[in-house]
Formats: sequence, structure tokens, C-alpha cells
Amino acid sequence: MLNVPSQAFPAPGSQQRAASGGRSKVPLKQGRSLMDWIRLTKSGKDLTGLKGRLIEVTEEELIKHNKKDDCWVCIRGLVYNVSPYMEYHPGGEDELMRAAGSDGTDLFDQVHRWVNYESMLKECLVGRMAVKPVAIAKENHEKKFLNGILLKSKVPDLPAKEISPSYDWFQTESLVTIVIYTKQKDMDSESVIVDYQDGCFRAEILIKDYSYLLHTELSHEIQEDISVRVAEKTGKVEIVLKKKVNISWKYLGHPLENHNSFTEHKEKGLYYRKCKLISKVDVTHDTKLYCLMLPPGTHLQVPIGQHVYLKQTVTGTEVVKPYTPVLESLHSDLQEPLHPHNKYIYLMIKIYRAGLFSPHFDCLQIGDCVSLSSPEGNFKKSQLQDLEELFLLAAGTGFTPMIKILNYALNITSLRKVKLMFFNKTEGDILWRNQLEQLADKERRFEVEFILSEPTCEWTGKQGRISLPLLSEFVKRSSEDSGVLICICGPAPFTEQGIRLLKDLNFSQEEVHSFTA
Ligand code: FAD
Ligand code: NAP
Repeated sequence: MLNVPSQAFPAPGSQQRAASGGRSKVPLKQGRSLMDWIRLTKSGKDLTGLKGRLIEVTEEELIKHNKKDDCWVCIRGLVYNVSPYMEYHPGGEDELMRAAGSDGTDLFDQVHRWVNYESMLKECLVGRMAVKPVAIAKENHEKKFLNGILLKSKVPDLPAKEISPSYDWFQTESLVTIVIYTKQKDMDSESVIVDYQDGCFRAEILIKDYSYLLHTELSHEIQEDISVRVAEKTGKVEIVLKKKVNISWKYLGHPLENHNSFTEHKEKGLYYRKCKLISKVDVTHDTKLYCLMLPPGTHLQVPIGQHVYLKQTVTGTEVVKPYTPVLESLHSDLQEPLHPHNKYIYLMIKIYRAGLFSPHFDCLQIGDCVSLSSPEGNFKKSQLQDLEELFLLAAGTGFTPMIKILNYALNITSLRKVKLMFFNKTEGDILWRNQLEQLADKERRFEVEFILSEPTCEWTGKQGRISLPLLSEFVKRSSEDSGVLICICGPAPFTEQGIRLLKDLNFSQEEVHSFTA
């Protein structure tokens, strides 16, 4: 619902905008970009009409404010006057009006739960929803400390097959081992995210659409190198902490927010940790490869096809944008990677000169920090199993999710063919062209084709935009019953058109995976 310009991205007049045909769903008026909004919020103008006063809002009051010029929306218990924001909303006024005078939390979570609305709308805050009197549950004081007993977690209404995990812990003289029993057969270490920062320990276990969280302030200090072991067959996760001082712990720690809870993943806010910029290397004239180092107490692996969010404060407002981690290079398997995979994250980012986030990010110096979220996304490695042919359709930085997919897929011996069709404006825009050509020379199952929309007269390859003739020639099944997957990623209208064309070519929904936020 409330979002930053990425939904209308590329915006009108942007360097990304196609010569013909509107690309953003709702074109914003001149002077209505996110930067303009940030400027307005800093101008000192009274945006709520309450002169900075915060009030308690009853349901009856909220409902009354349901018109464009008087529109209040509640998100997670806080009420905002969004009327001044209407014209700045990239999704358009109508989309925002769907939540007018009501609780828009679900609508917000469905579209952009990652957007930091608290920061974006802080000058529009009207107040809190008034709390209805409810019977307060008697607090269980016995649970104040975590003492190693199997606590019963806060469990939502789960589908019958989902069982809440439980945990236990034990210690030796120098180690504390936390054991989480997930009872899941297909657990892997990508499903375990651990953070230890400022004495707080946080372990999140992802189980399908759910997430189990341990969150405690540890009773004693530990060293920062934490190890994680996952028994895939039984779903047992062991997290081994090294004590700083070899004394016996009486209890594990004090529970923190949502400790020992098992909830739908989308209900949880994004968790960020600060990562250090280690290097930046040019890829093309406007795109760079950035290496970020995770903090020492973090265990996090970004699964293939998933993205993370970066968060920075731009002119006093927190801005969040998604980026898709890539490999250090397409030859990563050939040589020892410079950095171990589980401590470093590589991002290939295009810098838009007039963009809000990317130029700001590019100003970071080596050694500076940026906040990075846990991974998100709905691509599953299992989609690559039992395939015979894989087709990748990428435009511009839409190439980023294809990098890990390509690398993983070429290690599947049953896969007979992997083809990448890569759309760019000019030759100079092609990301990792040399590496792709070298890979195609070396690996007979891999083919790459570059299509340019603005070629010079020297270009002898294909040109144009995504079209039926191009696709029908490129995306061909070798036999009627061969297992096929087509991955597509690029500017939203490119992806949407590609999906329509693939449907016309009789590929089923299951055979097409598109990447979005
Ligand atoms: P924006 O501020 O969004 O601006 C982009 C362009 O639009 C600029 O040229 C700007 O001048 C113009 N513009 C903005 N607002 C207006 C306006 N109102 N009127 C006129 N012009 C305007 N990108 C990567 O580079 N690498 C990745 O790996 C990557 N992964 C992604 C993964 C996902 C799931 C998604 C959804 C996107 C991904 N992106 C990636 C894109 C990325 O999230 C950002 O959208 C991109 O970096 C641009 O953000 P920005 O704030 O720098 O630019
Ligand atoms: P770009 O350089 O502007 O465009 C790349 C190619 O796509 C060009 O050939 C361009 O043709 C073509 N194209 C653009 N719009 C088109 C349309 N409507 N129909 C057909 N072809 C079109 O691209 P970019 O600046 O790198 O942007 C990449 C986009 O990918 C961004 O929008 C980013 O958000 C998105 N992305 C998404 C994900 C994800 O969802 N996981 C990951 C990474 C990137 P023209 O020259 O004719 O415009």
C-alpha cells in the first residue's frame, strides 16, 4: 500500500523509462518524488492538522476520516493522516484509499511490508488506536528466566501439518549448545539465521511460510563465532555458543520480544544487522559489485533467487530498497573464493544518478556500515530439480537473480540445457559479458544470447525488445514432455510482457517463475 518509488519504477522521465508506452502504473506529477516528499516532511508544515498533538483514536473516529482530503489509516495500531501523502504515493491514490478510515495493516503487509512507513510517515502521525478493555491474562512469572526446560511456544492457528518447534539447551565447561527440534525433514542451514549483537541472541528458523524465533538477552557473555549444525534428516538444529568465561550458567537468558514464538513469517517485521563495506569494483560504467561483511555473530546465507533489503537514512528518513545477492564471480567454483561464502554478501548494484538510494549507497566508504535484512523471496531451489531445460530471460540488473541460479543449475547433471537471453540497451551495459562468454565456451550445456535495444551500427547480434518472434525461437522445448523452467526478471513491464508472451507460447504458470519484491 504505502511504498517508495520502486513500484512506479522507473518513474516518469527517469533514465530507465522506455521511449514509448507508459511504464509506471500510476505516473506521479512533477515534484512528487520520494525526495520531494522527504523535503515536505522536513519543511515544518503541519501535516496532520493537529499541530503536533498526538491523540487516542477510537474506531468510530477512524471511520469518519475516509475521504481523499481527510484520510486516516491505521497501521499496527498507529493512525496516520495520509491525505498529504496521496499525490506522492507511487501506487496511486486509489490504492491508498482502499484503506481509508480503516486498519490497513494487512493490505500494507501484502504489498510492501518492508517499507519503513514509521519513518516515511512520522510527520503524519495522528496518534494511537484507543485500546478496548480486555481481560488481561495472568502473567506467568515462572517464565521470566529461560532455564533449559522445554517451554511451550506461543503458537498460532497452524495448518494441521505444521508443528511448532521446541528448544532445549545444555552446557559444558566452555560451550553452551542450544538445540531446536523442528521435526522438519528438509531443513538446511539456509533456513537458520542467527544474530548475536550487544548481548542479545536471536535465532530464526524458517519453516515454509512460518518462522520460529528464539530471542533472549543471554545471561553471560559469549564469543562472537557461533556455529550452526543442521541434521537434515531429523530437522534438529544445534547452535553452539562459546562462553567468554568458563563458568556454569544457571539459566540461558531473559526472554526478549517474541521469544519462543512460531508465527507466519510475513507477520514478523524485517530484522536488520549492520554490515561493513569491504570492497567495490566496477562492473560497467554505472554498475558496481559491492562486498559486504556480515557481523561476526551472524549466521546468514541468502538462498538462491532470494533478495535482501538495504536500509539507509537519506536526509533524515529511512529508505529501504531490495537487492539480490550474487556470487563473487561466475568462475567461483573454479577457484577458491576470495572470501568464504557464509561471511560475505556480494551485491551488483546499478547507480541511478538521480536515484534516491543507489547514489547514496555508492557514497559509502570502505569500512562504512549499512543495514541489511534477512532474506526474502519465493524462489525455491527445488524448482530446479527434475528439469531438463532451463531458460533465463533477464533485462538490465534483472540479471542478478540469474547468477546464482545459473551456477547452481550447471551443477545438476540431469539438466541438459541452460540458455540465457540477456536484454540491454547498449554493449556497454552488459553485465559480466566476458564471464558469460567464457562460461558458454567452457560449458557445452550453456548458451547465452545478448539482445540490444539501442545498439550501435557495429552490433551484429540481435536487437529490439522482448517479443514473440524472439521468444518463440529461443524458448523451445526439445521434446513435448521435457521438464522446463523459465525464469524472468527485469523492469516490471518487461517481466509482465514476457509472462504474457510465454502464456501465448503455451507454457504453463508452473513453468514460469518471475522475480518481484
Ligand atoms: P529511484 O529513486 O527509485 O529512481 C530510479 C530512477 O527513477 C532515477 O533515474 C530517478 O531519477 C527516477 N525517478 C525516481 N522518482 C522519480 C519521479 N517522481 N519522477 C521522475 N523520475 C523519477 N537493483 C540493482 O541494481 N541490483 C539488484 O540486485 C536489484 N535487486 C532487486 C531485487 C528486487 C526484488 C527488486 C524489486 C528490485 C531490485 N533492484 C535491484 C532495484 C532496486 O531495488 C532499486 O529500485 C534501484 O536501485 C533504484 O533505486 P534508487 O532509489 O537508486 O532510484
Ligand atoms: P534498463 O537498462 O533500463 O533496461 C534493460 C533492458 O530492458 C533494455 O533493453 C530495455 O529496453 C528493456 N526494457 C525496459 N523496459 C521494457 C519494457 N517495458 N518492455 C520491454 N523491454 C523493456 O534496465 P535497468 O535500469 O537495469 O533496470 C532493471 C530493472 O530490473 C529494475 O526495474 C529493477 O527493479 C529490476 N530488478 C528486479 C529484480 C527482482 O525483482 N528480483 C532484481 C533485479 C532487478 P529499452 O532501452 O527500450 O528501454
